[in-house]
Amino acid sequence: MQLLKDIVGQRRELEQLKAGEFFGEIPILLIAEIAGKGNIRIESWTEVTEVLGGERLARIVTTTRERISTTRSADALLLMIGATANTSWLPPTLERDAKGYIYTGRDLTAWPLDRESFPMETSLPGVFCAGDVRHGSIKRVASGVGEGSMSIAFIHQYLALTGGPDLTRV
Ligand SMILES: Cc1cc2nc3c(=O)[nH]c(=O)nc-3n(C[C@H](O)[C@H](O)[C@H](O)COP(=O)(O)OP(=O)(O)OC[C@H]3O[C@@H](n4cnc5c(N)ncnc54)[C@H](O)[C@@H]3O)c2cc1C
Repeated sequence: MQLLKDIVGQRRELEQLKAGEFFGEIPILLIAEIAGKGNIRIESWTEVTEVLGGERLARIVTTTRERISTTRSADALLLMIGATANTSWLPPTLERDAKGYIYTGRDLTAWPLDRESFPMETSLPGVFCAGDVRHGSIKRVASGVGEGSMSIAFIHQYLALTGGPDLTRV
């Protein structure tokens, strides 16, 4: 996102292509910033369908929803890749929300034990989840790292509770 902001701040001519729900992923403030820039042209419902060149990028082909293709010169192409939860392979006993993000702790609706779940513990006791794929997590690097380190502490507590190996001595 910072990279996109930096580019928006530059003076050279830019073309901004919008494919599908592109703006759904961008904070409102950044949308306003983009809309206010005279050096950005927004093309709605347009996809980059081909990337052409030799040693380096030379041209891109864009195609509209009406299947009209245009070839244009391009020095650079910035891809903004969205995030989705890739969790369909997990067992159904691992509770997830409608979008596939994994429930943990107090968000769990199906918890099989008498004891309370640890924060970041999933519906499978002893299995913990941290980062973007966790339901309700703040989707940022620093919070993912923080949740990871917190999970380690809870895993130690889980192992102490269940009589598992003392990993602090390994
Ligand atoms: C375009 C974009 C811009 C962003 N900008 C910022 C920013 O400026 N600042 C910021 O703090 N955050 C930013 N984020 C968010 C940040 O990238 C994430 O919050 C962070 O990477 C989450 O870390 P994670 O380890 O939880 O997940 P990820 O970094 O997504 O790591 C998950 C890993 O698991 C792998 N994986 C998936 N499925 C499987 C499987 N079945 N088996 C094995 N491996 C698998 C994936 O390939 C991936 O490597 C941005 C995200 C995007 C998409």
